[in-house]
Amino acid sequence: MEWSKLPATRMVCPTCQRKFLLDETKTPPFCSERCQMIDLGRWLKEENGLPFEGDPGDTPVEYRE
Ligand SMILES: [Zn+2]
Repeated sequence: MEWSKLPATRMVCPTCQRKFLLDETKTPPFCSERCQMIDLGRWLKEENGLPFEGDPGDTPVEYRE
């Protein structure tokens, strides 16, 4: 028996929603290079498709006391 003594970290791929173990991927948090590229492509497409207008929609608001 050569089971790892450490429990594998379970991840869910943000691109394809596939469940995988962190040990199985070289491209965390994605399950594969393919999914990493898909995510990157999506990101670049948004970047190119929509001119940046300073919309803070999904940017965390900086909090100051
Ligand atoms: Zn994936």
